[in-house]
Amino acid sequence: MQSDQKLLLYEGKAKRIFKTDDPDRVLVEYKNDATAFNALKKSEFEGKGRLNCQISSILFELLESEGVPTHYLGIVDENLMMAQKVDVIPLEVVLRNIATGSLCRETPILSGTEISPALLDLYYKDDALQDPLLTNARLEVLNLISKERYNQIENLARKVNKILSNFLSKVDLILVDFKLEMGVNTNGNLVVADEISPDTCRIWDKRTKDLNDRILDKDRFRKDLGGIVQAYEEIFNRIKGISSNPRIYK
Ligand code: 5GP
Repeated sequence: MQSDQKLLLYEGKAKRIFKTDDPDRVLVEYKNDATAFNALKKSEFEGKGRLNCQISSILFELLESEGVPTHYLGIVDENLMMAQKVDVIPLEVVLRNIATGSLCRETPILSGTEISPALLDLYYKDDALQDPLLTNARLEVLNLISKERYNQIENLARKVNKILSNFLSKVDLILVDFKLEMGVNTNGNLVVADEISPDTCRIWDKRTKDLNDRILDKDRFRKDLGGIVQAYEEIFNRIKGISSNPRIYK
């Protein structure tokens, strides 16, 4: 099935979402495109879409096995997955275990500082506004979600952090920080949506102390370090070794 024969519902920077015959399901195609800094920097990497799709599948199945609801239904092709149709809440839910990235650009907190319990930062997802950081007071004025929903989102994100951190540490990978998106499916349930991949997580290799070599995520592209596909492949190979094959959606 070629993606150009399907009805495109939405095209984002790294994925395309297609309609299916079932109103409760969508097809998610992972692209090779890479963007950073609100798409000011763009490139394409052969193999990135496939790797992010396969890594996301493994991580979604892991979360599911630990009782975390996600939109994932199964793999359709190497860069294509079936997912529940959800209304995405326009929030980027970021959890930070180690300070780096924007936290260190915007505050005097030193890069590498361990943060426990993990810091939860919510951003309003809007390219035109450049995804601004929200305070709890702003979130309340915005009137986007109820207090109850906020608590659900925080609890789910913290649970995801524990599960992913523990899992990745088994193969000497450190989950530095990550971004989740959540949505409400057609049954009204809150689920983890979007993707969980080295595009959306910072992952460092415990097997090397070199500050650049240890980076196995999209920071390789943001910082012009090269070797992005090799780094994603390294993550995939390590986690594949301790997981069963992702299920094929039929
Ligand atoms: P930071 O706020 O330091 O830029 O990002 C924190 C974490 O969230 C990183 O793991 C980063 O990859 C992820 N993240 C934040 N915003 C975005 C975004 O717009 N797109 C993607 N792919 N990841 C993001």
